[in-house]
Amino acid sequence: MTKKILVVMVCALWLVSCAVNPVTGKRELSLISEEGEIAMGKETDPQIRQQYGTYDNAALAAYVARVGSRLVPYSHRPQLAYSFQVLDSPVVNAFAVPGGFVYITRGALAMMNTESELAVVLGHELGHIAARHSVRRLSSMMLLQVGLAVASTISKPMATIAGVAGVGIQLLYLKFSRDDERQADALGIQYSRAASFNPGQMVNFFASLQKLGDMSGKSSLPGFLSTHPLSSERIQNVTAMLTEADKAVPIGREAFLQSINNIVYGEDPRQGYVENNAFYHPSLRFVFAIPQGWKVQNTPSQVTLASSDEQAAFVLQAEKSSEGLEAYAAKTASELEGRQLLHTESPTINGLSTFIQVYDIPSQDSATLRARLSFIRKGEMIYTLAALSQANTFGGYDTHFKGILRSFRELTDPAHINRAPQRLKLIKASGGQSLQDIFKASGIKQDMWPKVALMNEMELTARPAAGQWVKIIQ
Ligand SMILES: [Zn+2]
Repeated sequence: MTKKILVVMVCALWLVSCAVNPVTGKRELSLISEEGEIAMGKETDPQIRQQYGTYDNAALAAYVARVGSRLVPYSHRPQLAYSFQVLDSPVVNAFAVPGGFVYITRGALAMMNTESELAVVLGHELGHIAARHSVRRLSSMMLLQVGLAVASTISKPMATIAGVAGVGIQLLYLKFSRDDERQADALGIQYSRAASFNPGQMVNFFASLQKLGDMSGKSSLPGFLSTHPLSSERIQNVTAMLTEADKAVPIGREAFLQSINNIVYGEDPRQGYVENNAFYHPSLRFVFAIPQGWKVQNTPSQVTLASSDEQAAFVLQAEKSSEGLEAYAAKTASELEGRQLLHTESPTINGLSTFIQVYDIPSQDSATLRARLSFIRKGEMIYTLAALSQANTFGGYDTHFKGILRSFRELTDPAHINRAPQRLKLIKASGGQSLQDIFKASGIKQDMWPKVALMNEMELTARPAAGQWVKIIQ
């Protein structure tokens, strides 16, 4: 495990809790200074942005930052330089990194309906930062695989080739205690109440998350929701913290909904998608085949395939470069310590110039690794396709490795190139129609109805009043 990965400390919102109290002023043992926290945050922030990408919508980013900034003066650590960012991920998530970095996904925003709902979630994250929960819990970190198990079982050279040393194929999620989480909830309520948001909206968000967990199963949400469910007790605790006066505070429904109108919903196919055992990238215009049973992880920095036994990986990266393939290859290989060149060739693959080198790379902590690095020139870009496994098992995966490489080609089919993402849109109810009538008339696929109803925080049979905004997916 690298030091960099060690400091990727991500606190998932519903994960559960954090603990000590800057609020009570109780003394705590701390090995990390505030400067240390800030340095940690500054190192981690670019890694998180590279892993998920930030969502390209300046107005929405400004809106989220504005709501977050309203809370800051009421936080217990108002002196930190906070940043609030929207990540381009369909996963429903919000988290904070020490030093003042707060993130929310567009997937989480799509689930929300009011400005106060956004505020309490950001407030909860500010609570984790204020109480230094992440810092205090360094020792109780739980490893969450978001990609390849290969990255953890495999040694550092492999990680270097696979490009995981900096970004991490896996993130470390912090497992907070129930007490920590309860405290972050309380601080979130306190901050949002002080900043004139309606703190009761926290209950709505948690209730949505709980229902979403029930309906979406394992595939579309991080696995930790199944192992660390949001408890009904936690929702009851939050409800008990609310006062009669809270109920009268405006929730800011209109402003919030207008700010998320037309955002991308679900996976964005323009960043690459899998269909019929092939990976398509419409913006970069390439396609390649995926072996049966192999897993795919697509991030803004690379596409990673892993064999079903997770002992072999195939990693694709692209970089704009005018260099010759051999010079580019030499530069890449120079990072591999102790490498031994086994083979070189210069084939043409589907009309594209290619330079291939096979290396064995000794490793201190595991068996010798083998890497076939294929460098392909396509337009302004050089694509690096790395086939990786232990040297003694490489032959067993080679049919698949070669199959992927030989299938790499220019994407020309307009139907695949012009694939557009789905978007969240707002329409005004005409009154009298049920939510499912509205969905049907909007052409939303029936299997999506329960999820979209949940996004509206309504039952399918509910009849929105005339003029009420309804979220639909198109
Ligand atoms: Zn939390």
